[in-house]
Amino acid sequence: MRRVVLKLSGEALASSSSVETIDATTVDYLATEIAASCELGGLELAVVVGGGNIWRGATGAMAGMNRANSDLMGMLGTVINALALQDAIESHGRPTRVMSAIDMNQVAEPYIRRRAVRHLEKGRVVIFAAGMGNPYFTTDTPAAQRAAEIEAEIVLKGTHGGVDGVYSADPKLFPDATKFDVLSFDEVLAKDLRVMDLTAITFCKDNSLPLRVFDLMAPGNLRRALAGEAVGTLVK
Ligand code: UDP
Repeated sequence: MRRVVLKLSGEALASSSSVETIDATTVDYLATEIAASCELGGLELAVVVGGGNIWRGATGAMAGMNRANSDLMGMLGTVINALALQDAIESHGRPTRVMSAIDMNQVAEPYIRRRAVRHLEKGRVVIFAAGMGNPYFTTDTPAAQRAAEIEAEIVLKGTHGGVDGVYSADPKLFPDATKFDVLSFDEVLAKDLRVMDLTAITFCKDNSLPLRVFDLMAPGNLRRALAGEAVGTLVK
């Protein structure tokens, strides 16, 4: 069994062709790929979903809000996304459990590591909501931290901006930029490559947790990444 954590940003649930915060067609696409990948067997999948399509703590803080309060709003946004994803994945026949880092018993199970692992062993997709429950983080760090906690072998970070991995510079601004197939954490840190939040990168490095960055929306890519294929860039 391969146990993996998939990090989906909240914006991956939205679509430029729709005014909706959560675009049903996009969510259904992701759910189809996830359910089909689990159907093949050999995969235990936990998903950490962000909330940037709804709210980011930093946005409120910049406008003068209390940062911790603003971050709570962001964490609640991730719960909304988790429920949308749960609904979509279950409509494709794959059981899921949403586990929240903030207690809200009528909405989601509380996060308990042993229970999360049990769900995974039973073939359920576990969706981690509310990040780590602490302000001053984005969901990149809980993706890495939960992965270490449940002993996942890798963090898969799906991007949605049309960039299929890590490049030497932003390929949209610099067409000459080259793509890395494999990269070390030290190179990411030294070159200040914006792969994930620095806190998350440092955590992955300290805990020898590999990270694969890939384009979520390229047809077939999510399925390939979940199957363990070498799509995008591996950071290790
Ligand atoms: N957040 C937080 N603690 C966490 C995870 C998330 O405070 O452990 C808040 C933070 O304000 C963040 C927001 O939730 O901006 C939404 O998460 P994120 O920005 O990671 O969403 P994404 O960019 O992945 O859509």
